[in-house]
Amino acid sequence: MNVNRQAIVIGGSLAGLFTGVLLRAIGWQVDIYERTKRNLSSRGGGVVLQPDVVEAFNLAGIPHQDLGVVASERYYLQRNGSIQAMPMRQTLTSWNSLYNSLRRHFPDEHYHQGKSLTNLQQNDKQVTAFFADGTQTTGDLLVGADGVTSTVRHILLPTYDPMYAGYVGFRGLVNEGELDPETAAIMTERFVFYQFRNSHILQYVIPGENESLVPGERRFNWVWYVNYDEATELPRVLTDKNGKRRDYSIPPGMMANDIDLEMRQYAERVLVPPFQKLIAATKEPFVQAILDLGVPNMAFERVVLVGDAAFIPRPHTAASVSKAAQNAITLADALVEYDHDVLNALNAWELDQLNLGMHLWKRGQGLGETSQFLYGKQRWEK
Ligand SMILES: Cc1cc2nc3c(=O)[nH]c(=O)nc-3n(C[C@H](O)[C@H](O)[C@H](O)COP(=O)(O)OP(=O)(O)OC[C@H]3O[C@@H](n4cnc5c(N)ncnc54)[C@H](O)[C@@H]3O)c2cc1C
Repeated sequence: MNVNRQAIVIGGSLAGLFTGVLLRAIGWQVDIYERTKRNLSSRGGGVVLQPDVVEAFNLAGIPHQDLGVVASERYYLQRNGSIQAMPMRQTLTSWNSLYNSLRRHFPDEHYHQGKSLTNLQQNDKQVTAFFADGTQTTGDLLVGADGVTSTVRHILLPTYDPMYAGYVGFRGLVNEGELDPETAAIMTERFVFYQFRNSHILQYVIPGENESLVPGERRFNWVWYVNYDEATELPRVLTDKNGKRRDYSIPPGMMANDIDLEMRQYAERVLVPPFQKLIAATKEPFVQAILDLGVPNMAFERVVLVGDAAFIPRPHTAASVSKAAQNAITLADALVEYDHDVLNALNAWELDQLNLGMHLWKRGQGLGETSQFLYGKQRWEK
């Protein structure tokens, strides 16, 4: 099926790929333009596999049976060594398993890397994207799937930037064979939490770096939320080991030695032994500032914002990836419903997606404020 319509997708991460595979499934020609030249698949940690992601895979005809590790219960570890267990079945996957599955399903000749959008122009018939290398391309629809630092958003809504939420997520991955057996037995195939004053840490098992689900080849994935003052402490945390100040995150292998050491010492003071051992076994922790972002519009005639470019719900909702999937599913549905008339379809699509983004944004703020600040802000203990 070819409906003779062309989409330009800016950003080749999950939101861009969800949109790409689903618009192709309804007969559009799609080209994805990704700024990064290197292979994206080597990065990323854990993702809770939500129904919207499974639905997007189904609609695009992508197999998903081998995508995740099943956890059958939650463990809440207590300071006195006891454990509260709660049955809850969830499937946990990894960013790179999702990325690789989608990427394998999207044709190489339409996935263009090293292409950084710098500007766009639209009229009543078409939209044109301009790239840093001097090239340009024209289509019926432009999808801004370019994430937290979205250029598309900067062009259309220049005053809407993410705001720091007051805390960061330290993160880490440990290969299954590299954790002592006693700790591994507690952590395996469970969602494990430790909550304490103004902080919490969680862990779940995800596929191996090579997407393997075979026991022994998977990874323990942890996230620890720690409060930092934006003015006095955050700049130090977001300065990498080469002295470069990063915007919102420090990738694995780049965390400054003093921050790495402080985090490990802090873990020894405040965490319970299983999480202390997990952090001690982590070779290259990384860190992300937790952000809030919401926009008043997602549709701008022939241009849409999807995924993190539009709304960043806090990670406690486990909804960033599923929201990106939902944005793409409903966009494809609206285009079919309106017979591929872009202006009418986007107009109809926008309201529900704004409501979804707003709902998740507010819910995440509530969950985050309760767990991190209920007792007042507690600073890093040096
Ligand atoms: C390498 C990587 C690893 C990640 N790992 C995790 C994880 O482990 N767990 C998790 O929950 N979330 C992770 N995320 C974030 C997750 O992908 C998002 O929260 C969510 O899936 C929505 O994704 P997105 O595609 O909207 O935004 P993003 O994933 O941020 O992707 C935006 C993409 O747009 C590209 N881009 C930006 N500006 C331009 C431009 N001007 N021109 C062209 N391209 C541009 C970026 O290079 C990036 O690839 C990761 C993101 C990346 C890029």
